[in-house]
Amino acid sequence: MEERSLHLVIVGHVDHGKSTLVGRLLFDTGSLPPEKMEDIKRVCESMGKELDFAYVMDNLEEERSKGITIDIAHTFFMTKKRRYVIIDAPGHKEFLKNMISGTSQAEAALLLVDISRGIQDQTLRHCHILSLLGIKQVVVLVNKMDLVDYSESLFKDVEERIGTVLAGLNIKPSFIIPLSASKGENVANKTEKLSWYGGQTVLEALDSFSTLKVEEKGLRFPVQDCYSFDGQDIAVGRVEAGSLKKGQEVFILPQKSKARVIEIKKFQEDDMAVAPTGDCVGIITEGVKLKRGNIVSDDTRSDITDTIRANIFWMIDKEYKLGIPLTFKCATQEVQGRIERIYKRFDPAQLEVVENDSSVIMPAEIAEVEIKLDSQVTVDKFSDIPELGRFVLEHAGYPVAGGIII
Ligand code: GDP
Repeated sequence: MEERSLHLVIVGHVDHGKSTLVGRLLFDTGSLPPEKMEDIKRVCESMGKELDFAYVMDNLEEERSKGITIDIAHTFFMTKKRRYVIIDAPGHKEFLKNMISGTSQAEAALLLVDISRGIQDQTLRHCHILSLLGIKQVVVLVNKMDLVDYSESLFKDVEERIGTVLAGLNIKPSFIIPLSASKGENVANKTEKLSWYGGQTVLEALDSFSTLKVEEKGLRFPVQDCYSFDGQDIAVGRVEAGSLKKGQEVFILPQKSKARVIEIKKFQEDDMAVAPTGDCVGIITEGVKLKRGNIVSDDTRSDITDTIRANIFWMIDKEYKLGIPLTFKCATQEVQGRIERIYKRFDPAQLEVVENDSSVIMPAEIAEVEIKLDSQVTVDKFSDIPELGRFVLEHAGYPVAGGIII
């Protein structure tokens, strides 16, 4: 069993079967307490219904709103491999905001399409969201196969069309799976009725994904402050990825100069051998004098650049006009700059492109932009090392936008 849970977001047009799928996932993996299952069966029987998984979800929903047992952040299910946490994707706006601010981060997405209805408005919008956030691990679930007599040709048709839509947004789905969420076919268990398919079930697909393991990535130690103490210069910060080792040769970014870590200290712990991801420590180095905003790294794979291409979420009530000065803040880095190009801007509610090559961003819009900075910064892809792939833009000391580098 993996130690870490995988955070999953489930999206799709209303009524295409999200609640039903969640209920089914919880049921088939035995993730609901037995007495809860009995309750649900009893109520469904008394209403003369088969087990209705949308009902399972409503039932959970109701408990949540009463603040009883199940917390929204704790809808989870388990396979032999690992635990999955289902992230709630309320409105687009909140979901995007949460992802950008790091409150919740989806590592994989399930996109549901009802085969009897095909691709609808919200399906397209949700495809846009996945693309804006750079989510790489995507499974398309072609649901309600029972309604079309498990037709292979209709499946192939939807498979091709959704594949084309996603390709246009630079997303290559890892799997496209035919299923029936309500009947539990191809979710945890295979079915003869879909024998022509021969691919993975939903759970098998999910288990083939990987969780984000920043501790296994290259070292990233953004320097927060530097102090002189007992004639020594100590740089303090938090290890955001990888680990920091005593004696290690490191690069000081963005200038790429080399240094050696002589000593690592922590409050009441001197001379540590290793500081893992998440540790807040002070380091003494030999070679270059560090300063706030430097990134101590053990590789040179980060992007070192003064031009950032990213998706931003404009948060304030005032519009932005090209060229207005902004402060770019990423980890402990802080550099002056401005947006030089607005490739696309999206209406946040509809997620439709409002304008290409624009000169303004209106309140609450999402935009794909190029930011020009006065000096170089060190950044990584959001999906790779989130802490160095997300940033805030400020104007006159106030945050005006959040963004991610994809
Ligand atoms: P949501 O709005 O995306 O959460 O959709 P729901 O889960 O509420 O499902 C909408 C309706 O579709 C409900 O009446 C479900 O019972 C039904 N439904 C969901 N999955 C299936 C399926 O695989 N087959 C059939 N026939 N109906 C389904």
